[in-house]
Amino acid sequence: MLNQILSQQIIIDNILLIIGFIIFLVLLYAGIISIIEKEFRAARVSNILATILFIPFLMIYLYDFQLKGILSIILLSIVIISILILFLPFRPKVKGDFQKPIKNHDERDTIFSRNELIPETEKFKSYYSDKSEIKDLDNKFREKPGLLSAESTMYDHFSFASAHANLDVIEALKPIVNGSVDEKKVEIEASKISNYIKTWCKSLGAHSIGITELKDYHLYSHKGRKELYGKEIKNKHKYAIAITIEMDNDMMLTAPKGPVVMESTQQYLNIGTIALQVAHFIRKLGYASRAHIDGNYELICPLVARDAGSGEIGRMGLLMTPKLGPRVRIAVITTDIPLEINKVKDFSSAIDFCGICKKCADVCPSRSISINDRDSIDGILRWKIDAESCFTYWCTSGTDCGRCIAVCPYSHPNNTLHNFIRWGIKNSYIFRRFALYMDNLFYGKKPESRNLPSWIDFQ
Ligand code: SF4
Ligand code: SF4
Repeated sequence: MLNQILSQQIIIDNILLIIGFIIFLVLLYAGIISIIEKEFRAARVSNILATILFIPFLMIYLYDFQLKGILSIILLSIVIISILILFLPFRPKVKGDFQKPIKNHDERDTIFSRNELIPETEKFKSYYSDKSEIKDLDNKFREKPGLLSAESTMYDHFSFASAHANLDVIEALKPIVNGSVDEKKVEIEASKISNYIKTWCKSLGAHSIGITELKDYHLYSHKGRKELYGKEIKNKHKYAIAITIEMDNDMMLTAPKGPVVMESTQQYLNIGTIALQVAHFIRKLGYASRAHIDGNYELICPLVARDAGSGEIGRMGLLMTPKLGPRVRIAVITTDIPLEINKVKDFSSAIDFCGICKKCADVCPSRSISINDRDSIDGILRWKIDAESCFTYWCTSGTDCGRCIAVCPYSHPNNTLHNFIRWGIKNSYIFRRFALYMDNLFYGKKPESRNLPSWIDFQ
C-alpha cells in the first residue's frame, strides 16, 4: 500500500516537473522574443515569471516534506483548471450586430477635406454657412502649426522631409487611378482570377486581400478633395477588392514622433502602388476598374475592408485585422471583372476585447477615443471618435500621431508567440480578460513612446 502511494507520488512529481519545465520554457521563449522585439520590460517580466513559477514545481520534485501530497494535488488541479478555463472555447455572442450605415457620407464633411478649405474663399464660406459649430471647432486646428509643419512639436527634419516626399509621389500617381479599358475583353473564371490577384498582391507585399460586392453605403456621396471637390460620385462597379499592408512595428512604436508619419505615408504609397498595378492590370483584361488610394477615394476603405472579411472596426475607429490589428494601411480597387467574394469570418471577439481594453483611449493625448460603450451613429453600432480633437493634435504634433495604433494589444508583431495569444483571445471570453491583464503587466498600461531609431536621429 505504502509502495503504491509512493509510486503514485513519484508519477505526480514527474508530471509536475514536466509541466513546470514547459511553463519555464514558454516564458523563456517569450523573453527571448521580447528582447528581439526590443520590448525590454516584457523580457524582464517573462524572465522573473519563468523563475518564480518554476520554483514550486521544482521544490515538490526535489524535496520531501509534510503535506507534499496535498500540495502536489492542489498544484496539479490549479494547472488543469487554468488550462480548461483559459483554452476551452467559450464565446458568448457579442451584444449588438454591426448594422449598415443609413446614409452615404459626404467626403466634404471629412476632416481632411475641411482642412483643405482656405479661409475667406467662396468654398470656405459656402461650406460653413450653416455649420458655425463645426467652424469654431475647425478653427482650433487652423490655429496650430499644421501637419508636417517645421513649427510643430514633433518636428524632425529627415522623417518629415521623407513624409513630404512620399506624399508628393502619391500625388503624382493620382492621375492614373483610372484609365482606358482595353476593347478586347478576356473571358475569365471568377475563382481563378480572384486567386491570381490575391497571390500577386501578396507577392507584392500586401498583408491581406479581401473581396466583397461594392455596396451603395461604401461610397461617399460627393468628392471632397482638391479639384474634384463637390463632384457627385457615381461608381457602379460590382466588386471591391480591399488590400492591407503592414506598417513597421519599430517605426510605429515611436508614436507620435516623426517616424510614424514617415511610415504611414510610406505604406500609403506602397499599398497605393499595388492598387494602381492591379486596377491597370484589370483594365488590360478588358474590364473597368478604379484604384482608391490615399487622398483620392470614392469610398470609405475600412467599411469595404470589413465587408471583405479583412477585420472589424475597433474602438479607435480603424480597421482591426486579426493578425496586425490596426497597424495596417488600406487601399481598394473597384471593378467589374467577375470575382469570387470572400466569406466573412466572425471576428466579434475583437469587439468584445475592445469593450474591456480601452488602452488606446487611455493613451490618446487628445482624449479623442470614447471610453464608453458603442453607440448607434448614422445606423452603425460603433465607438464615437472625436475627429476634430484628434486632428487638432495632429496639427500640433505635425505627425499623424498613431499612439492608439502603437499601444493596441493587437498591433504586436505577426509571430508565433503573439499569434498564439491572438488565437486565445479569439477562442475564449475568459482568455481575453487574462490576455489584457498580461498585456498590461508585460508592456505597461500606458507604454512609453520609443526614441527615434539611430539611423533617423543621426544629427
Ligand atoms: S487598444 Fe484596445 S480598445 Fe483600443 S482598439 Fe486596440 S484592442 Fe480595442
Ligand atoms: S491618432 Fe493620436 S490623437 Fe488621434 S485618436 Fe489616435 S491617439 Fe488620439
